[in-house]
Amino acid sequence: MNIQGTERQNVCIPLQQTNIARIALTITLMLTLGVSGLLTITFAGWVKNTQGLRVSVDSNRSTIQPGAQPSPTPLLLSSPSPRDPYVQTGPLPQNLSQAIANLRSQNRLLYNGNPFLPEIALTFDDGPNPYYTPQILNILQKYHVKATFFCIGRLVAAYPALVRQEYAAGHTIGNHSWSHPNLVLLSPASIQLQISKTSDAIEATIGVRPTFFRPPYERMSVQELTQVYHDGLTTILWNDEGQDWARPGVNVIIQRILRLARNGAIILMHDGGGDRSQTLAALPFIINGLQQRGFQLVTIQQMLMDLQQHTSIPTNPNLVQPTLI
Ligand code: ZN
Repeated sequence: MNIQGTERQNVCIPLQQTNIARIALTITLMLTLGVSGLLTITFAGWVKNTQGLRVSVDSNRSTIQPGAQPSPTPLLLSSPSPRDPYVQTGPLPQNLSQAIANLRSQNRLLYNGNPFLPEIALTFDDGPNPYYTPQILNILQKYHVKATFFCIGRLVAAYPALVRQEYAAGHTIGNHSWSHPNLVLLSPASIQLQISKTSDAIEATIGVRPTFFRPPYERMSVQELTQVYHDGLTTILWNDEGQDWARPGVNVIIQRILRLARNGAIILMHDGGGDRSQTLAALPFIINGLQQRGFQLVTIQQMLMDLQQHTSIPTNPNLVQPTLI
């Protein structure tokens, strides 16, 4: 027997086995590394998700619970976007109180102005009226007071000269619907018509489209508020009135209004819709009483500007801004 041959055989056989073993080992190693890598990625993802779950929202603030590792990735909350009162972002919440709260948070619905400023807004509804409105304008001019008139659209069309006179004197003109219905009882199409037709009439009369709306009878629905909101109008209500429409007596009107007067008050009175002789008689005393107490009488336009100027926008980037849904 050839020893070399035998040795070669003896040597060659282990060599072949070794090669097979190496290949098998290589494949095993590759598979192991691959599985390990996959496991590593999976584990890293799990750790990341675990850290993300530790971020919790508490009272509109983002907090990281003790023990959590800081994450370089953005957290669950985004920074607030700047307020833009004319951004239309969608329908209002179906719940009326929620819709009102939502609009108030954007200064798109006001019951009052800035509570830290000694300014008050006189507002007159249901005009223009050919008998009472000119007399109201004379009193306002005499006392150098600017006010706001929420006009009925069909009366704007009937007495455009009075509206032009109001506007020329520096007063603000607002939308009070076309025919003073209870808008809550109307169809969406009718609500739209009541609002847009009045804005059209005011714009045709003074060249400027109104930006303020007051709902007749203070009756509001989500549908109505949504329409007003999408028309770019801010709803203006009030927190001070003498119920002059009920004609309770001149002194009662004066006393009620002066008793409720405070910083940022919006006072409701009427220059149309019936006999307004008591309102006329009370107005000089109301203006005098307010001015003597140091209040400045401003338009709703001015009041809103001052409200935005003095209301601080939250600076905490983690504060959640109310959003329309
Ligand atoms: Zn009214």
